[in-house]
Amino acid sequence: MFSCDCCGICCRYIKGIEELKEFDNGDGICINLDKDKNLCQIYSSRPPICRIDEMYKVKYHRYFSKDEFYKINEESCKKLKEIYKKG
Ligand code: SF4
Ligand code: SF4
Repeated sequence: MFSCDCCGICCRYIKGIEELKEFDNGDGICINLDKDKNLCQIYSSRPPICRIDEMYKVKYHRYFSKDEFYKINEESCKKLKEIYKKG
């Protein structure tokens, strides 16, 4: 299972993500992110691109094993956390 710690950092870097362009606040932060709690305010109806297992099922199963796909996502989380920490 993918281990998301609900840091909300990925929701602060949505600039350039086609599927989320309507949610970009103009600064790359998703309009649906509750910035105090770092939680998605539309979690139960968030789009497919925000759902790792869903994206794997509809698209990425063609290219990766599930473990590989989780690993790729975990690496992306790690990089985003480093970028965020540096401010
Ligand atoms: S950056 Fe990764 S760990 Fe943090 S909320 Fe997003 S998916 Fe979860
Ligand atoms: S819709 Fe929710 S999960 Fe998706 S980027 Fe926005 S705040 Fe994050």
